[in-house]
Amino acid sequence: MIPYGRHHIEDDDIAAVVDVLRGPALTGGPAVGRFEAALAGATGAPHAMVCASGTAALHLVAMGLDLGPGDAVVVPSVTFLATANAARYAGADVRFADVDPDTGLLTPETLEQALARPGPGRPRAVFAVHLNGQCANMEGLLAVADRHGLPVVEDACHALGGAYWLEGERYPVGAAPRSVAACFSFHPVKTVAMGEGGAVTTHDAALAERLRRLRTHGMERDPRAFTETVQAFDDLSGDANPWYYEMAEPGFNYRASDLHCALGASQLAKLDRFLDRRRALAALYDRALEPLAPLARPVPRRATEDDGWHLYVVLIDFAAVGLTRAQVITRLRDAGIGTQVHYLPVHRQPYYRALYPDLTLPGADAYYARCLSLPLFPDMEDQAVARVADALREILS
Ligand SMILES: *Cc1c(COP(=O)(O)O)cnc(C)c1O
Repeated sequence: MIPYGRHHIEDDDIAAVVDVLRGPALTGGPAVGRFEAALAGATGAPHAMVCASGTAALHLVAMGLDLGPGDAVVVPSVTFLATANAARYAGADVRFADVDPDTGLLTPETLEQALARPGPGRPRAVFAVHLNGQCANMEGLLAVADRHGLPVVEDACHALGGAYWLEGERYPVGAAPRSVAACFSFHPVKTVAMGEGGAVTTHDAALAERLRRLRTHGMERDPRAFTETVQAFDDLSGDANPWYYEMAEPGFNYRASDLHCALGASQLAKLDRFLDRRRALAALYDRALEPLAPLARPVPRRATEDDGWHLYVVLIDFAAVGLTRAQVITRLRDAGIGTQVHYLPVHRQPYYRALYPDLTLPGADAYYARCLSLPLFPDMEDQAVARVADALREILS
C-alpha cells in the first residue's frame, strides 16, 4: 500500500532522540532552545518558539493577539480544523472566508468579501493558510488587511521550506516580514516530523516572550517583571525568593519535550533534501497526469520553486467521469494506493453549521467537490508516481 503521506526517519534522527534519553533532561533542557535557534535560522525569523503542536501554536498566537468574545477571526474555510478552532479556544468568532475554487487559497477578493459580511463579531485578525504548501498571495492579503487595520497570521503548517515575494523581495515562509507570526506543525505527515509538535516564528520580541510564558501556564520567573513585591522578595536581602514565580494570566502546558525537539532539529537539517525530493516527485506527477486533462488536472501552482509541496492535489470532474469520489478512492485503494481529501470546508462541520447556519461559500464547495490528494512523501519511488498515474488513468477512463 502506498500511503498518501509518510514521515522519513534516518539513523541519525534515532540517535538524536537516544542521546536525549541518555542525558539529564527529557524536557525543559537544551534541545528545546537548539531546535528554536535552528528554526529561526531556517526561516529567517528573529524569534522561534516551539510548542506541543501546530494547534497549540495557533492557539497561543490567538491568545497573544488578545482575541476574545466579540472579536472575529477571518479563516479560509478550506483548511484543517485547527485554524478555525484556535479562534474559538480564545472565545472569538470565526469569520469563514471563501477561497479560490482552483487553488483553495484565501484571496484578497474573498478576504474583502468576508470582511464586508455583517457579523458575528468585529474582525480583529486574519489567519491566512498556505494550503498544500502553496503560499497565499501575501502581498494582496496584506494590502487588504492593512486597509482594515488587521494583523495577519500565517498558518504555515503546510509550507515549511516554501517562500513568497513581497515588493520584489523573496522571503522564506516563517520569516513573517509583515505578518504577526507564522505557525508550523511537525506532525509526521508534515514535511519535518517531531511526532507531535509545532512552532511560532515572529519578528515581534515581546510577542515571542509572551507566547513562551503562555506555553508554560503563564509563569513568569524574571524578578524584574514581578508585581507582588511583598511575597516575591526576601525582607532581609531584598533578593527575589528562590522558589517564587508569578502568573499574570493563565496559560497552558503547551511545551515540547527535549525528545521531540531533538527529533525536530535532526529532521529540520534535512529540509532541503526532503523538499527537493517532493518537488521532483511533483514534477513527475505533472507530466504523468497531463493526458488526464480535462477530467483530472493538478491544482495550479504559481511558483513551483517557491512551493512547500506538502500535498499533491488533483482536481477531478467526478460528474464527467461518472464515478463518485468514494468510488475512485476505493478503486485506488484496491490498487494499493492511499489518498485523502483535504478538506471538507470547515464551515460545513456540524459545530460550525450550528454557529453559522446560513453561510454558503461556493468557491470552497467547488474546490472540495473536486479535490483528491495523491501520495507524496520523500521515500516515494519514481515508479510509484507512474503507478498512481496509470491507476488513475485506468479508473477515470
Ligand atoms: C496539521 C495542521 C494544523 C495543526 O497541526 P497539529 O500539529 O496537528 O496540531 C493546523 N493547520 C493546518 C493547515 C494543518 O495542516
